[in-house]
Amino acid sequence: MPLKLSMKNTMSLTSVVREIRQKQKIKFNPPDRPTAVWTGKDLFDGKLINSLTIIFQTSGCRWNSCAMCGYVYDSARTPPSHDDLIKQFENAMSRCPEEEFMVKIFTSGSFLDDCEISGETRKEILSRLGKDDRIKKVIAETRPEYVTPERSDEAIAALGKPFEVAIGLETSSDMIRKDCINKGFTFADFVMASEDAKAAGASVKAYLMLKPPFLSEGVALNDMVRSINDAAPYAGTISVNLCNVQKGTLVDEMFERGDYRPPWLWSAVEVLKTGKASNPGTILMSDPVAAGSARGPHNCRICDRDVAEAIRVFSVAQDVSVFEGLDCECRELWKKVVELEEFTFGAPFLI
Ligand code: SF4
Ligand SMILES: [Zn+2]
Repeated sequence: MPLKLSMKNTMSLTSVVREIRQKQKIKFNPPDRPTAVWTGKDLFDGKLINSLTIIFQTSGCRWNSCAMCGYVYDSARTPPSHDDLIKQFENAMSRCPEEEFMVKIFTSGSFLDDCEISGETRKEILSRLGKDDRIKKVIAETRPEYVTPERSDEAIAALGKPFEVAIGLETSSDMIRKDCINKGFTFADFVMASEDAKAAGASVKAYLMLKPPFLSEGVALNDMVRSINDAAPYAGTISVNLCNVQKGTLVDEMFERGDYRPPWLWSAVEVLKTGKASNPGTILMSDPVAAGSARGPHNCRICDRDVAEAIRVFSVAQDVSVFEGLDCECRELWKKVVELEEFTFGAPFLI
């Protein structure tokens, strides 16, 4: 069944996404508690290191209009004060690893947006992280429009140690970013942000998105390979996110109608193999969130666990040989899907 939403042809993707968002209930979380905190592992200078991920609860993303994004439901009902945000930070830091680690900051929006985190609060958080000798690096996610030379300089000065700006570029295609994701910025905006961040001494990470809605498996796969090549000159690390179906999103509505299937894990393997071969100096990673479930990237269910694990191992080892010998009967089926979905105009050939 083709996509049929309560919209007229003239309605923009922004209006459709906002209409869906208005129907959702936002859960209450005390304003002095972060949305989430967890520990994990990441790469630092080519070696595995502990990581602490903090998702601050802020007023949320000002753009709030991307087709696949459910993070907006994590935002606070009322904007947290400076003291609330510092308490969130202290709460998160009470769970940090004992040895050296890196800190990854998300806000379900942009850490460098003054409306979410004021300059004063940002400076205090970064200064405290700077004084903690166990912390080797800080990564913070932001939209590109908030990466200005001033804010980059301020962040680096307050922190005094390696700082990485992480930007959800999603794709290097302006058409796909606009018409399939509704991201609201261009590749040129990303390039400018990357250059400003680098000029201040920060490194850059780009998040790409494999298989946003309205694309066939093959078009999505080729889009990622091209995007890795295009983004590599501007981002030392590229993380390929495999689109999963988040509640209360346009992708969710399409999924429920049978109009969207998350990407095959085989597509991710192909993207990582080809992308690494063309860009050996770029750190290429992917965390297959919700792999093996209907709402996450999956193959035939039988091989999902092994293929997802190979993707995780590759992300740490940066060695495509981890994919050698990986096979399953469904690989031939995936090849057919890549070939035949070209004729279904983006509607899934198989769910
Ligand atoms: S810019 Fe990021 S946080 Fe904001 S709606 Fe888009 S994906 Fe979500
Ligand atoms: Zn399989």
